[in-house]
Amino acid sequence: MGGDDPHIHVEEKVVHGDAVARNLMAATFGLVGNLPSAVTTGCGVRVPYAMTSPRPDRVTCLACREHAHHTHLRFAEEVERLSRMPGSAISPEQGRLAADWHRDAARAFSDTDADEEGEGEG
Ligand SMILES: [Zn+2]
Repeated sequence: MGGDDPHIHVEEKVVHGDAVARNLMAATFGLVGNLPSAVTTGCGVRVPYAMTSPRPDRVTCLACREHAHHTHLRFAEEVERLSRMPGSAISPEQGRLAADWHRDAARAFSDTDADEEGEGEG
């Protein structure tokens, strides 16, 4: 794929590879400014990091929206399952909140033209 792709993609690791984790790493290990110049996207191409976003309202690549949708749903289930295991680092309550958040994100990624139709708003 050429470098003229106008779409905004999501990172392949839309959940785990977010900037929060990266900032944490930077703060811990002093790796400030070490953002990757290119990342692999949910649709399987390499794009500049600036051409990706974790935000549903920014991502215009349909394949990436679908990828993010499924990834968030899967992660919601995962985090709920993990939170119910004995000795888990997170409580069932925390797991439920996290799962809710990821389900919201999944829904946002599946709404491709919600603002046009205006259905289900409110
Ligand atoms: Zn994409």
